[in-house]
Amino acid sequence: KELLEEVKRIGDAVFQGDLESALRYSLTREVGAKKEITGEQLDALRLYIDILEKYFPFGNNGKALLKEIKAVVHENDPVIGLEVRKKVLDAGKPEKKVFSTSKKWIGCLGSTPEYRGYPCSLWKMFHFLTVNAALDSEFKFPHGNIALRAMHGYVKNFFGCRECSNHFQEMSSRTNIFNVSTKEDSVLWLWKAHNEVNNRLQGDLTEDPEFPKNPFPYRQNCPECRNPNGQWEEKEVYKYLINMYDKRNIKYLGSN
Ligand code: FAD
Repeated sequence: KELLEEVKRIGDAVFQGDLESALRYSLTREVGAKKEITGEQLDALRLYIDILEKYFPFGNNGKALLKEIKAVVHENDPVIGLEVRKKVLDAGKPEKKVFSTSKKWIGCLGSTPEYRGYPCSLWKMFHFLTVNAALDSEFKFPHGNIALRAMHGYVKNFFGCRECSNHFQEMSSRTNIFNVSTKEDSVLWLWKAHNEVNNRLQGDLTEDPEFPKNPFPYRQNCPECRNPNGQWEEKEVYKYLINMYDKRNIKYLGSN
């Protein structure tokens, strides 16, 4: 209860604990649950691990773990999901000093356990990766929208909520995700896509009453993000997202 109040007081922010839980859950429960990963799934996994290795905000031990996983997924075909799972579980031992907290959710804590959690943290992690790729002036990937491609491949091939995955794929092809050509446009594409999902889920059974699914960012947090007619000012939204998801602004509430 106290943590929830503190998180609400802080407002829109990214917590290290949520990013770590997203990564841990995704690699142990989703990638880790696949027996043999090959073909399109393996391409998607390689891209996902590449972008994590480049931008996930780990310390030296965590970076070493992602480097090891990167070698496993690039050097094997098929990749055995259980091998990835074992590496991450082993890294979870406190003496390995990879994760900053064993707490599951911080900013993604629901008012009761059935709300929020992993899907919330997965959104946060992909916004984080997209923004930090956009902020990287030495960005050297073949496609400007590489973080979005990684997300698309991950959600299509691994995300456990199949209904969410189907919706996401439908939305991605309708709005031409592969035609997004710059890292800056990727940030805004993902913001719009997430708002479309929020809009669809308003009033849904899955909506945490303490965290209503209103268009993001809330008016009171960014008054300049809308013009007097209530339409979005995308330049201001971009600034807001860049500031919120910049790795330098991560909050360590609940971390050691
Ligand atoms: P979330 O929507 O999970 O948002 C998490 C945090 O992201 C917010 O607290 C806020 O800080 C930030 N945020 C919110 N909106 C934006 C934005 N536009 N831009 C940047 N940051 C933002 N559930 C379903 O029931 N049906 C679906 O079809 C479905 N599809 C999904 C598809 C994907 C790819 C994912 C990752 C999840 C999907 N979910 C779906 C789950 C759903 O979107 C929520 O994640 C879940 O209901 C928890 O909601 P939440 O209140 O924690 O906020």
